[in-house]
Amino acid sequence: MDNNLVLDQIFSITSDLYKQMCVDDSDASNDHAEIFRLLTELSKTLVNADRASFWKWDKRTHEIWTTAAVGTGRITIPEGTGLVGKSLAEGKPIVTNDPYNHPDFNSAVDKKTGYVTKSILVMPVSNCKGEFIGAYQAINKLDNDGKFDIVEDVRKLSLAAFICGITLESETFLDDSMHDKLTELKNRMGFHHDYKNTYEKLLKSEKEFHTVSLFICDIDFFKKVNDTYGHNAGDAVLKHVAENFRKNSRNCDGVYRWGGEEFIVILPDTTPEQAAETAERLRLIIEASVCKFEDLEIKVTMSFGVTEIDPSRSIEDNISVADEKLYKAKQNGRNQVIL
Ligand code: GH3
Ligand code: MG
Ligand code: MG
Repeated sequence: MDNNLVLDQIFSITSDLYKQMCVDDSDASNDHAEIFRLLTELSKTLVNADRASFWKWDKRTHEIWTTAAVGTGRITIPEGTGLVGKSLAEGKPIVTNDPYNHPDFNSAVDKKTGYVTKSILVMPVSNCKGEFIGAYQAINKLDNDGKFDIVEDVRKLSLAAFICGITLESETFLDDSMHDKLTELKNRMGFHHDYKNTYEKLLKSEKEFHTVSLFICDIDFFKKVNDTYGHNAGDAVLKHVAENFRKNSRNCDGVYRWGGEEFIVILPDTTPEQAAETAERLRLIIEASVCKFEDLEIKVTMSFGVTEIDPSRSIEDNISVADEKLYKAKQNGRNQVIL
């Protein structure tokens, strides 16, 4: 392919990538889909392949997955399997221009789709600490007789791998800064990010009218849990509450650890009365549940303050309104919801 054309394409992809990272309207639910798409496009263009995919290595689940390969949805393989798994296990690229005779090639996808794989180049991607985080797989070289060049193409794909590594590293860093390590819920910074990028946009939409409500809630007498059973038991209770909130909320609801033993739930297209019903449901769930920690069974209750978000006021003011209701719930004897 014409070198200038390739450069134009790479310039266009990398500037889109940069814009996407700056805008960052990623509600984490989209798994940075657009960033993955652009990174994949970059690798495909650099080595002039018919297809390419980026495989992310999840060391927690011991799986490698991609969304960019043939078919729909996420494709997951166990670590260590296939050419991608092998390349990651060995920490080096694999080139094969005769995949059907390669012991690690899995022809199942070809069999299912009728696609014929003639050449493959796999390149591990590492983060800034030199740890492998995934791998590129480019399939079917479009020039050079359909063969990947063991020097040239490996160099080109390692350039893509370098860009991919630092891009995902900075995204991971951003993600980490928006999550609370203990409960794995989003934290206060995550709340402000989501409010600006999702909920405030809904409230300010000129096309449709949206009602957004929120509640703030706080564990009752939590200090007593720490004082009686120790700080680790207190941590277990926080995790237990977070897990119950996550399990019992809709996907569109945002659940956040606001700080200490306080949580905020924001509910789009929900009236304050409906939000109060959700809060009451959660209150009953927490009241009825037990947190098991070592050989202890710990029970807690929670108090809730509910409000509808008034878009003409700042989010801080809106939270203060909910906070006043929460204060009332505490004054009234705790373990209740105040609207
Ligand atoms: P109230 O019913 O009025 O809310 O009483 P409370 O005891 O829950 O409230 P208080 O503000 O007096 O105590 C909150 C406690 O939460 C104090 C603090 O040590 C504890 N806490 C805050 N963050 C954490 C944490 O991450 N882990 C643990 N174990 N405790 C925490
Ligand atoms: Mg408390
Ligand atoms: Mg508190």
